[in-house]
Amino acid sequence: MGSYKIAVVSGDGVGPEIIPEALRVLEVLRETVDNLDLEFVEIPLGAKHYLETGASLTSDDISACLKADAILKGPIGLPSVRSDDGTEVGIGIELRLRFELDLYANIRPVVLNEGVRTVLTGKRPGQINYIILRENTEGLYAAHRSGILLRDEAAVDPLVMTANGVKRAVRKAFELSKNSKGSPCDGKKRVTCVDKSNVLRSFAFFRSKFDEVAQEYQDIQKEYMYADAITQQMLFSPEKLNVLVTENYTGDILSDLASATVGGLGLAGSANLGDENGLFEAVHGSAPDIAGKGIANPIGILNSTALLLEWLGEKQASEIITNAIRKLLREGTTLTPDLGGSSSTKQVGVAIAATVKDLAAPS
Ligand code: NAD
Repeated sequence: MGSYKIAVVSGDGVGPEIIPEALRVLEVLRETVDNLDLEFVEIPLGAKHYLETGASLTSDDISACLKADAILKGPIGLPSVRSDDGTEVGIGIELRLRFELDLYANIRPVVLNEGVRTVLTGKRPGQINYIILRENTEGLYAAHRSGILLRDEAAVDPLVMTANGVKRAVRKAFELSKNSKGSPCDGKKRVTCVDKSNVLRSFAFFRSKFDEVAQEYQDIQKEYMYADAITQQMLFSPEKLNVLVTENYTGDILSDLASATVGGLGLAGSANLGDENGLFEAVHGSAPDIAGKGIANPIGILNSTALLLEWLGEKQASEIITNAIRKLLREGTTLTPDLGGSSSTKQVGVAIAATVKDLAAPS
């Protein structure tokens, strides 16, 4: 057990509604788990903050993030708050955080839990359990605000792949597979390279670097799927999947689709990892359509909080959160409207915090 400083970004939209529920649960763990000391430092960031102050991401913000042991972040971005080039200010902040902190691996687990209805006919809990690793500092998004606008007639965004960038992400994917139980259908550890190497030189390069890294992991099966074909596999036979590794933009799209197969964006958590830094956030955005109503599902950010504690080496505390979430979903009585319930964000957070307290109490 240790002592940690956590930087907290509430963000935009539903961010200030879900982040307090993550803090509620962390507070309970701080009170009940022996020698777990947590200090929170709020960093104001986001599209709303930009509108109010004119500040997007300052060097002070970055150094506060670098000084923290981990970052817990709400969604950033509002569709109406845009830069002069037409892109969102909030997404600029989000991407710069990932670039500046060198968070090259965006890890997005896809797990069907008991009690959660899937849109996939006949799939049961235990049959969907895989990870999407989205390369997070290169690919199409590396071109952010650096593409070319030719008069008002054409626009170009380059797709960037570097050997080091691809290889370190692919290596992380193989490590995740090595430490996993393998795919639900056959228990085999398998990393699937998801690309469009049939069309683009950059993706052929991605695949060649994937092959180089795969040689270091002879005990793990390697597999290739084109990004279009994997969508069918994700819907028809997700039980065959273990770890997918792919380019930034491709992974962004695929992981939203994946979350829809296991209960939706409200449940999906993620870890953005570098070698030194870790930023943890729900997969979803600021959800302006439900912001302010108190009905956003806090489970996505709580799953991310569990990933944060695991990354800090606090396995017991991490598992307590995961088990409390599983219990709530299994029982099905306290759920937000996205899961068919009528509970509020706070009611779900309070229920999970109460279970966390029970599970963490010494027996
Ligand atoms: P979104 O993820 O915010 O919402 C998509 C749909 O999912 C909406 O119907 C929303 O109500 C629902 N949803 C999202 N989170 C939910 C939750 N916790 N509980 C229940 N339902 C939930 O995607 P969007 O509308 O395309 O984007 C909104 C804003 O968020 C944009 O400005 C976008 O750029 C930004 N964004 C930020 C991040 C990030 O900070 N990492 C990620 C994605 C989008």
